[in-house]
Amino acid sequence: MKLRSVRGTHDIFGEEIDKFNFISNIVSKNANLKEYKEIQTPIFEFSDLFAKPLGELSDVVLKEMYSFEDRNNEYLTLRPEYTTPMIRAAITNNLLNDLPLKIFGIGPMFRRERPQKGRYRQFNQINFEILGTRDFLADVELISLSNNILNELLPKSKIKLHINSLGDKKTLIDFKKSLTKYFNTYKKKLSEESVKKIESNPLRILDSKNQADVEISLSSPKIYEYLTDEAKKHYEDLKRSLNILEIDFEENANLVRGLDYYCNTVFEYKSDNLGSQDTLLGGGRYDGLIKVLGGPDIPGIGWAAGIERIALLMEYEKKISSTVHIAVTNEKFTDYFLYLQKYLSEYRISYYWNYKYNLKKSFTKANISSASYIIIIGENEFNGDFFTIKNLMTGEQKELKLNQIFNHLNDKSR
Ligand code: AMP
Repeated sequence: MKLRSVRGTHDIFGEEIDKFNFISNIVSKNANLKEYKEIQTPIFEFSDLFAKPLGELSDVVLKEMYSFEDRNNEYLTLRPEYTTPMIRAAITNNLLNDLPLKIFGIGPMFRRERPQKGRYRQFNQINFEILGTRDFLADVELISLSNNILNELLPKSKIKLHINSLGDKKTLIDFKKSLTKYFNTYKKKLSEESVKKIESNPLRILDSKNQADVEISLSSPKIYEYLTDEAKKHYEDLKRSLNILEIDFEENANLVRGLDYYCNTVFEYKSDNLGSQDTLLGGGRYDGLIKVLGGPDIPGIGWAAGIERIALLMEYEKKISSTVHIAVTNEKFTDYFLYLQKYLSEYRISYYWNYKYNLKKSFTKANISSASYIIIIGENEFNGDFFTIKNLMTGEQKELKLNQIFNHLNDKSR
């Protein structure tokens, strides 16, 4: 059988791993600036953890979870999202004594979706949460944090922030009723998928990508008309704050987010450059979720972003590598080369050698790798007790004694 990786998974290497590491560093730096504490949770949990909060009818639970029974007849699930495990971790480790709790995490998620550009079955997410405050300024803080991170990674022109409010419980009950009534009158025209959701979860019809559904949703009832005074104030406070912070946004009445537990603020960053998987970051407030999971009745808000999608949008800057390449022209010079290796290691100078006693091949490799210098060891160097060092950016070449190499490399790199 031909060796292959599992459908929907991908190996991360080369340019992409450089981007991944760059993204992780920017995320950690921004998290530290705002005092968010990192949490890493296991990649699998008891299946029950996800079933209830994610909503028994949501796509994730119905079709997409990787669940299995282990040898103790326990049902386990590879985490499809990070919010629920993070809250589980906060509860089981007694982290909710000092509120608000600000946490973040980075790691792989698993969903059995149909693979396509920007959509994998194992993918990586960045996740930020604030647990324990209803203050609209927490919503502002998290949006502003996501804005800072994305702006460090991507050109502003490539992304757009969409926001909406789903109001509170009363808003949602009234709004769902009126949506059900409205969509029932279009039963014949809606997609099959959406017809199934009319009674159970009519909100999800609003973010359907089916063309007929999109057109019918255009004239559907709008949630703003159902916001209670309190929910309206929360939303107005948020918009005013974003304006003060000069964070551009677009109001999007059809933004409902995939999972059932959202209320009040929901937001997404979208891009026109991503094809059909156009959302790179999404989040919102989930005030009832922590209680549903068996914790205290405290509110929460958070967001998640897909690293693969951010990487797809990032422009790759080819870096000049600081690595020095070595060219050894003959096996006769290995002992002489070992003196050089000892010297480079002592001075913490990173170097690369291709194990080929061939000047041309060593030069080709150094050029492909964008190395900055190559050190040559040949007949002349060996006989004369020196090393030839060539700067591959300027072409300048020098003959140096071993103890001059460190200063020379440092001089040039300034
Ligand atoms: P969600 O939890 O569905 O709101 O996802 C949050 C973010 O994770 C999305 O905006 C994407 O950037 C990313 N994401 C979700 N599902 C996938 C997937 N199957 N493959 C790659 N990235 C994904």
